Amino acid sequence: MPSSKKILATSFDYQGVYPCPVCHVGKITSMPLMEAMACEFCQQIFTINLEQQQIKMPSRQPALIWHWNGFSWTEAHLEGMEFGWGYMLASGAFIFIPTALIGIIAYNFPPHPDNPVSWIPYIWAILTFLSHLSIIIWLFIEIYQIPVRAYLRAMRQRLPIR
Ligand SMILES: [Zn+2]
Repeated sequence: MPSSKKILATSFDYQGVYPCPVCHVGKITSMPLMEAMACEFCQQIFTINLEQQQIKMPSRQPALIWHWNGFSWTEAHLEGMEFGWGYMLASGAFIFIPTALIGIIAYNFPPHPDNPVSWIPYIWAILTFLSHLSIIIWLFIEIYQIPVRAYLRAMRQRLPIR
């Protein structure tokens, strides 16, 4: 039975009420006559896999999957896809290597201090960092787009004024 204070691990079943892994605001409960659960806040629908204690959000491809660990949902992962350290390292390198290169060049070959645009290399290094960082953030949002968009949409729907 669901209780407000969960101390013991609970297994995932149709009767329970669970936090929504998408918006982290609403609660998901089972839908009548369906082997699915829905969030009362963001309206996302999840299909259930009781044997594996998983829910799947099929409204996007590849589907996002969460696993119930007895207390909460684990990080979302894409069906048939794992994000390993290789991706993390690659995105880190993508952000820091160009920034470091430009920084090193700016440091080793500084423009003449009397030059009115001597600040450009430093601004350029900062811009490189920000642009590469935003590309990675954008890719991340694209991959996990539903959580962000569903959350924004749900927040808009909750606002009394449109
Ligand atoms: Zn939700």
